[in-house]
Amino acid sequence: MSKFLSKRFTSMKAYVPGEQLSNKKYIKLNTNESPFPPPEAVENAAKSEAGRVNLYPNPDGSGLINKLAELYGVKPENVVIGNGSDELLAFTFHAFFDAGVIFPDITYGFYPVYAQLYSVPYLEIPLRDDLTIDLNDYIGAGKNIILANPNAPTGIALTPENIEEIARSNPDHMVVIDEAYVDFGALTTVKLIHEYQNLLVINTFSKSRSMAGARLGFAIGSAPVIEDLNKMKYSFNPYNVNRLTQIMGEKALEEEEYFIEKRREIMSTREYTATALKKFGFLLTPSSANFLFCKHPDIGGYELYSGLKNKGILIRHWTKPRISDYVRITIGTKEQMDTLTKTIEEILNEKK
Ligand code: PMP
Repeated sequence: MSKFLSKRFTSMKAYVPGEQLSNKKYIKLNTNESPFPPPEAVENAAKSEAGRVNLYPNPDGSGLINKLAELYGVKPENVVIGNGSDELLAFTFHAFFDAGVIFPDITYGFYPVYAQLYSVPYLEIPLRDDLTIDLNDYIGAGKNIILANPNAPTGIALTPENIEEIARSNPDHMVVIDEAYVDFGALTTVKLIHEYQNLLVINTFSKSRSMAGARLGFAIGSAPVIEDLNKMKYSFNPYNVNRLTQIMGEKALEEEEYFIEKRREIMSTREYTATALKKFGFLLTPSSANFLFCKHPDIGGYELYSGLKNKGILIRHWTKPRISDYVRITIGTKEQMDTLTKTIEEILNEKK
């Protein structure tokens, strides 16, 4: 740390992303990317746009926004795009949460970091022992709320009815739903934005649309709320989504069949892997996401993580006390998951 850093950031802890190692070829099951490349049309769109990067991108992203609006049955003024959904989450914390925000104690690790970055007071509400959300903590809370649905890293989803109850009972506060993993088995609450001005839904192309490396997120909400987010965007970086990404995003939305097929494949591989892990004695949360969250009575979370890393497989582990026994495993291809389960079996046998 230099002596020049502003005082308010000296004790801030930055977000730690999952490892992106290049020293060796790993099976990468640690950051919830899609194991599948984007459709060919998306790659070709990027190639054809590359010769125009001497020009700034369209700052309002209207081509992509119109397509998203059509897909989700909303108006273009209900949509904003961002450099990954992380950027939209940052704008959200900055724009709306001055008076504070609440979220679960076990959820996406960026929420407390954004809260610190923007001096937002926050309260982490403990999940129940089974790692589910207690709706009573949020219904009529009279606070701004952010929830990942499905939650990460548990994969457990709320229903749109649950979320409607939360939005209805907190009319003077924002209710933000982070739907990064919604396409893998949960239901979106986008339809409710027409009825609840306080509801904002944030989603990403990083997971179900195979575009983590292109950095593209979007938020859908009432027109005044989207106007506020645009105010943040135009006060920070009007050209936040680059040319290649905008055109790739548009093409990705035209490849609906590929999207449906790949997410179906990931969901069926998830169930296949869950069955294999249960046979070894793992306990799993019921995941509606592209990852599994699990623990085994005979091996600690860190030991399993490092055992797999030594054998060329990356998964994610946190030291946070309540979940330190657990690991989170991204769903890869069926072949990758077969290698994973075989390797876990070896590690468990070596312990006997
Ligand atoms: N929300 C959740 C719950 C996530 O797990 C992630 C991925 N790390 C994000 C948002 C951010 O995704 P991206 O910035 O790639 O859109």
